[in-house]
Amino acid sequence: MTDECLFCRIAEGRTDTKLMFEDDTLVVFKDIHPHAPVHLLVVPKKHIRSVNDLGQEDGPIVAHLISVARDMARQQGIDRSGYKLLFNVESGGGQVIFHLHLHLLGGFG
Ligand code: 5GP
Ligand code: ZN
Repeated sequence: MTDECLFCRIAEGRTDTKLMFEDDTLVVFKDIHPHAPVHLLVVPKKHIRSVNDLGQEDGPIVAHLISVARDMARQQGIDRSGYKLLFNVESGGGQVIFHLHLHLLGGFG
């Protein structure tokens, strides 16, 4: 999957996408077509297609995605004004990249 999947390639540092944060579990980078003044994507390094494909063992990954998104919101100065955390799930839910990712959207004012 790694070779064909854009977010696997970004997470592995095989593109010129600038990472805003990285640890053993995930990466964070700016959405290329932002829908808000702050629009970041929080992406696990493990290839998981969508929320539908999360297993019992993936619970800690999901918890970590959310807590890093929270930390990034604070770092971006939008924690107090507020933000949205969004998973699009499959085509009908607006998902176009089939590698799990959490959208962080904020800075609306
Ligand atoms: P989805 O609709 O699958 O939930 O969200 C995928 C997001 O990835 C979209 O908001 C889209 O703008 C973003 N995206 C697609 N290709 C790239 C890319 O090459 N680089 C970055 N930084 N974002 C991308
Ligand atoms: Zn992938």
